Amino acid sequence: MRTGIAESVLRRATFAGENWIARFGHLLDKAPSRQFNILYDSLVNAVRDEIPVAVERICGKAVSVETCPERQKVVLSNGETISARLLVVANGLNVGLRHQVGIARIVVSACRPWPARRRAVGDAFSTSCPVAGTGCDKVFTDVERLCNVYIPQWLASDGTGAAKIAAFYADPVKRACDRWSAAKAFDFRSVSFGTSPYRTAQRWARFIAWSVQGMLRPAGRAFHLEPNFLGHSSSSSSSSSSSSRSSSSSSSASSLSSSE
Ligand SMILES: Cc1cc2nc3c(=O)[nH]c(=O)nc-3n(C[C@H](O)[C@H](O)[C@H](O)COP(=O)(O)OP(=O)(O)OC[C@H]3O[C@@H](n4cnc5c(N)ncnc54)[C@H](O)[C@@H]3O)c2cc1C
Repeated sequence: MRTGIAESVLRRATFAGENWIARFGHLLDKAPSRQFNILYDSLVNAVRDEIPVAVERICGKAVSVETCPERQKVVLSNGETISARLLVVANGLNVGLRHQVGIARIVVSACRPWPARRRAVGDAFSTSCPVAGTGCDKVFTDVERLCNVYIPQWLASDGTGAAKIAAFYADPVKRACDRWSAAKAFDFRSVSFGTSPYRTAQRWARFIAWSVQGMLRPAGRAFHLEPNFLGHSSSSSSSSSSSSRSSSSSSSASSLSSSE
């Protein structure tokens, strides 16, 4: 909501309402869910539609980047050069440009890269396992903090040196969102693949809880009750919250959660 694009995005999204949980080939539960599903291209186009026409748009592939405290330079594949005070790198998992500005990838878990360092947002700053479904939360939190707080402050005075930029990476809302996203990814991995007796017991306990929950649900509805033994996990960020997702769920669409 705070990014100002929610209405445009939600118009193109489909309210899911239910999260089907299946294990061992059996449908265990149809748990209520507040998630909206949207195809990636629809999401991108919805965001683009909200850019005012007065804003100049340049379509092209950035092939090189040079940064300094005063001016940043981007060279496009057509040879055009753009010079600006501030450059926000938001090119997802593409590593080429990040290497040019000295951003290294730190892999904290094989198959689940968590690249981190300065001057980037969204997946370009850090990415976690897609199963956690927290990527959109993270990128929108970054964008909201930048647009509503930091960029207006930075541009109000000369220069965009490291000390100014550091404030964004220390932002408590951004850090809380990044921590929540990382914790959720590691938690999903442990629940799904952990081999310790605790994790094995946890998987069986979840299986039983979902099965019982699924059996009780029709009866509960008669009394306007929704059994919820496994709870919901919510984002600690202020931008939005993500409802819990089954680790078995998969989708080519992004899932956004209702902020209500
Ligand atoms: C299979 C899968 C499922 C997912 N499911 C979910 C989900 O359910 N919920 C959720 O919240 N998140 C999900 N995610 C994560 C989510 O898609 C990402 O976290 C999110 O898209 C990151 O946004 P971003 O803007 O940082 O990067 P991106 O969305 O990757 O955008 C980067 C953009 O930069 C462009 N680009 C790259 N290099 C250049 C260059 N040199 N010059 C110009 N442009 C360039 C790319 O073409 C792209 O358009 C999923 C990810 C995957 C892979």
